[in-house]
Amino acid sequence: MQNRAAVMHGTHDVRMEDRPVPEPGPREVLVEIKAVGVCGSDVHYYEEGRIGSFVVEKPLILGHESMGTVVALGDGATKHETGDRVTLEPGIPDGTCCECRAGRYNLCPNVRFFATPPIDGTFANYVTVHEDFAFSLPDELSDNAGALMEPLSVGIWANRKAGTRAGDRVLITGSETV
Ligand SMILES: [Zn+2]
Repeated sequence: MQNRAAVMHGTHDVRMEDRPVPEPGPREVLVEIKAVGVCGSDVHYYEEGRIGSFVVEKPLILGHESMGTVVALGDGATKHETGDRVTLEPGIPDGTCCECRAGRYNLCPNVRFFATPPIDGTFANYVTVHEDFAFSLPDELSDNAGALMEPLSVGIWANRKAGTRAGDRVLITGSETV
């Protein structure tokens, strides 16, 4: 297996490099990446090298909107089988802090989020992820659509918070044309 990765060395400087194929740890799965979206955050890092206090200080693999195929299981991983098509939740919380214990793991201050320095992202052939953060995809969903489950979930959550319903007229602000 070869693990080619797109590694950002600085603004406007992304190089293709070979990285070791990661070994899945306990309850992790090894995923062969098939599709990755480009998020606004990836563009920010690429253009400016930082987002607020998150600064790219050493080479970083971007990409966090991802799907792929499970190709190996770590010790104790039972939720997936090799060959499963999965979409990846990009933020892995610690599971032990107050926010995690309260069920708000999205607010975990210790979250390890793909493509947020210093955590490498998924513009690579292979990544590992905890089995709880890989979700099986239905066959009828394309690879590209499967990669977009994370941004879809952001939109669904925003609409729930806003109480919007089908048929509502809404203002979309912050969109950008490049
Ligand atoms: Zn936590």
